[in-house]
Amino acid sequence: MNEFVMEQGLHVLRLVEAHPRLFRGKPPRTSCHVPTGWFVIVDKMFQDINAVLDEAEAAQFQIIQIKEKFGGLRVCQDWEFQGWGYWRPLEDPPLPGLHQGFERLFLIIEDAIRRAEQTCLRCGNPGSLRMIKGWHAPLCAAHAENPEQEMSCNSKRSG
Ligand SMILES: [Zn+2]
Repeated sequence: MNEFVMEQGLHVLRLVEAHPRLFRGKPPRTSCHVPTGWFVIVDKMFQDINAVLDEAEAAQFQIIQIKEKFGGLRVCQDWEFQGWGYWRPLEDPPLPGLHQGFERLFLIIEDAIRRAEQTCLRCGNPGSLRMIKGWHAPLCAAHAENPEQEMSCNSKRSG
């Protein structure tokens, strides 16, 4: 595990600590990482989610994975009211009949995903999606010039 990977894991721990209600107070069991340049976006997303969920809704909701894949922000969650362990990726449209709180939650997460697409995952400056040697990542111009050194190993296509 290199320093960069470790740093991304520490970001997850900080987010769980800052937003315990969304994680049931402990880090997800699935592998998670948050790129340094996206920390502010993800932190804001969790703040906003916390604000729209009341206690009953929050009790049914849990973030079970957050990561970067193919240059995009991925947020997976568990919805207990859909049945035990129900899992759905965010790419799916909201289910019909969802409580309003959950509909707002989708908009919040979609907004974060859109912002991440335009934000360098290394430094948080404005960026655009680049493909360099088979790796996809939104990068600023400076970090795009230094892909070998600066790229997240989690952006590798095999991820
Ligand atoms: Zn950058």
